[in-house]
Amino acid sequence: MSNSKQPASALSSPRFCNTGTFMRMPRMKDVENPDFVIVGIPFDTAASYRTGARFGPAAIRSISAMIKPNNVLMGVNVLEGLKGADYGDVNITPGYILPTYDAIEEELQPIVNAGIVPISLGGDHSITLAELRAVAKKFGPVSLVHFDSHADICDEVFGQKYNHGTPFRRALEEGLIDPSHSIQVGMRGSLYDPDEHKLAAQLGFKLIPGHKVREMGFDAVAQQIIQRVERRPVFLTFDIDFVDPAYAPGTGTPEVGGFTSWETLSMLRQLKDLNFAGFDVVEVLPAFDSGEITAYMAANICFEFISMLAVQKKNGLR
Ligand code: MN
Ligand code: MN
Repeated sequence: MSNSKQPASALSSPRFCNTGTFMRMPRMKDVENPDFVIVGIPFDTAASYRTGARFGPAAIRSISAMIKPNNVLMGVNVLEGLKGADYGDVNITPGYILPTYDAIEEELQPIVNAGIVPISLGGDHSITLAELRAVAKKFGPVSLVHFDSHADICDEVFGQKYNHGTPFRRALEEGLIDPSHSIQVGMRGSLYDPDEHKLAAQLGFKLIPGHKVREMGFDAVAQQIIQRVERRPVFLTFDIDFVDPAYAPGTGTPEVGGFTSWETLSMLRQLKDLNFAGFDVVEVLPAFDSGEITAYMAANICFEFISMLAVQKKNGLR
């Protein structure tokens, strides 16, 4: 593989060679002062139904070899002005969430403190709490932009405080996020508590359920997100089950009636001016995937994240 900061070109190096990093980018140790890093967090034992998202980071990295560096719609080569690298994976402890949380925070903290934007690959959604701890230690309470078919604001699941259904309740209690500038988008499906979406409002969040996204249209939703967040540091967390299971079947707790891959990517692109402090894509479960379409969707969501950073860098905003 060449030493260029550009990914190896498949015109000369076949896509299936030298894989193992996102877009076959260099590893973090080989890049001086990267602007962003890809971080795998393969923890999945806080999932309530299907497990197996521990294999998400490897699956996303594998199919990410398909992504070329030019984002034509955004008008940018993502690795021309921007430097990226693959950190590898956080050393999680399968089955034990508290030591895993410590490991995530310890490993992400130096990245965040160095001004590098982490783009993490899950793992189940419980991991986002520890990512937010690292980010909030530097920035204070951040704005949360949360795409998901679930609100993940339960107080307890199975009598446990830390689960993939509770991270944003805990983040609120720990003062890691500012609910008045945070927004949850895409929630849908059957519920145990019919008032769960009202609970989000009581906690101070703005929640736009999936059917409202349909009514309002994607441009209006994007505008609501931008207005809510303003110029504050923002953490964008993307649960792949936001996307309809027809487009992203490989996930642990799917909900039908979701959004297409095109709708998802075009809405994300509209957020290009937000002041991003970190991102993640979670809940990719390759054992239930078909033709790698879920992993490829997740890889393309990461590509849009990177593209937004690249546009900002190009425009002197970062
Ligand atoms: Mn979730
Ligand atoms: Mn979900």
